[in-house]
Amino acid sequence: MKTRAAVYVEFQKPLVVEEIELPDPGPSQLLIKQFATGICHSQLHALHNPKTTTPRLMGHESTGVVVNTGSEVTHVREGDHVMVTFLPRSTVPGAKTPLPVVKWRDQEIHSHGNNSTWSEAILADANFVVPLDKSAPTDVTAVIGCAVMTGCGSVLNTARVQAGDSVVVIGVGGVGLAAVQAASNVSAYPIVAVDVDDEKLAFARRFGATHGVNSRTEDAVTRVIEMTGGGADFAFDAIGRQSTIATLLHYVRPGLAGYRPEGGTAVLVGVPRPEATLTVWDALLPGSKTFKGTNGGSPRPDHDLPMYVRWFQDGKLPLDLLVSRRYRLEQINEGIGALERGEILGRSIVEF
Ligand SMILES: [Zn+2]
Repeated sequence: MKTRAAVYVEFQKPLVVEEIELPDPGPSQLLIKQFATGICHSQLHALHNPKTTTPRLMGHESTGVVVNTGSEVTHVREGDHVMVTFLPRSTVPGAKTPLPVVKWRDQEIHSHGNNSTWSEAILADANFVVPLDKSAPTDVTAVIGCAVMTGCGSVLNTARVQAGDSVVVIGVGGVGLAAVQAASNVSAYPIVAVDVDDEKLAFARRFGATHGVNSRTEDAVTRVIEMTGGGADFAFDAIGRQSTIATLLHYVRPGLAGYRPEGGTAVLVGVPRPEATLTVWDALLPGSKTFKGTNGGSPRPDHDLPMYVRWFQDGKLPLDLLVSRRYRLEQINEGIGALERGEILGRSIVEF
């Protein structure tokens, strides 16, 4: 079938919104008519990488309704509402998911990752599609598949933060705010948001941040060490820039031999450049600290994504606040530009 999508054509050029042609679903694939999709920072990394040289489809979180399924798809059926994510529901080591081949201007193109949600209709593998409760709204839930899964999951799954643990979150965009909310939901304290923008710090309080530090005007590491009495139990870097990676371990408390020998844990959540470096001495010398990475919040999507929908329905995750701006597909370059300039509080979405 024919549909319209935002296509990445060339480095540093705007995306073009044009007709593409989707093949019929393969045995493990579904055709989804989309409700909404998020505009995510990690997609900008791909757009900004000069190594991205071939035309491709972008976007990796969305909601939609199933309109057709392949013969092997059993967990959802036609008419079901679904969330699309970028990490698989189950993994067989070594097995590869066949990516749909899409036609655009008479050439065959692929998705940048496992999905391509910046499109009115998509073909997705069943491994990346999770049922969405029909009583849930279909717009703001579009940011669960990446922002919420990654931010909340880094706190719940990767770090396993417990009640009373102290937490610092560097960068309170969509992913960072989800991390703050998850920390709040498990009763972490204090929860310190660090950002360069006072408006974003104030916004983070509405997701459960108990303190805010502007790293442009204050020495954030020193302030966090003061606030937490020696360093946080957990620090989350939701940015992934070289400068934030380099200081992340400085925020967490050292282990004290003979008292509490194991130090705090730093978690890299934001997508770093491949050449990013870390000084291992920072973990070793001040005392047995841990540096961890997380791939999208170390999730089990079938378990985690419906839980976040329930959090929203129970008032524990204000997705309607997190989604602060809405665009049409034709305006996607406007949305990307606003995100690049740091103008977006929380997350923006494209509505179809
Ligand atoms: Zn993302």
